[in-house]
Amino acid sequence: MNLLIIGAPGAGKGTMSDLLINNFHLVHVSTGDMLRAAVKAGTPVGLKAQEYMNKGALVPDEVIHDIIVERLSQDDVNDGFLFDGYPRTLNQAEDLDAILKQIGKKIDRVINLDIEDEELIKRITGRRLCPTCGEIFNIYYKAPAKEGVCDKCGADLIQRKDDNLESLTVRLEEYHKNTQPVIEYYEAADIVSHINAKQGVNEVFEDIKAALEGLC
Ligand SMILES: [Zn+2]
Repeated sequence: MNLLIIGAPGAGKGTMSDLLINNFHLVHVSTGDMLRAAVKAGTPVGLKAQEYMNKGALVPDEVIHDIIVERLSQDDVNDGFLFDGYPRTLNQAEDLDAILKQIGKKIDRVINLDIEDEELIKRITGRRLCPTCGEIFNIYYKAPAKEGVCDKCGADLIQRKDDNLESLTVRLEEYHKNTQPVIEYYEAADIVSHINAKQGVNEVFEDIKAALEGLC
């Protein structure tokens, strides 16, 4: 079973990816992780990627393409894989299909974690962290007993710099602009499952499992 998971920042993609990988024994194909690993191992693609990263530039599609080809040539992917964080654009989706076709594979299902921006805004801008013990609060869903103070250790809570409305709005706009064509591309192939990601973790995962019935 070969899957792809799509979700906006705050939709719970990391949690659902972990659950899928552990429950269905899938190989996790995360381009971010693969890039870091290739750079660390000093492979030819890794060295190329490093050049761009050193300049603070985005790693171009050709380099990511090479990394994916390299990863998909390993035997463990035959048992099934989960693409996470890729493809992010229509071009990348078309390229991935071409790569998979060459090795006689395909994406069986695309899981789209569906959730309104309003909810994501609450989840992310409401987040408060304890810098001392690491406890995470949310002023909308899991407020500390005393405003701005950690329930567990009494330290002052902080908000991560990127968790403000302005930068989140930019990230969400970018996300929708790039991802909508990707979703439509897979919808044309009739393989998208839209999952209501506003529910609790267990409910979301149950819905995903139901959507995958018959595939594994
Ligand atoms: Zn604390």
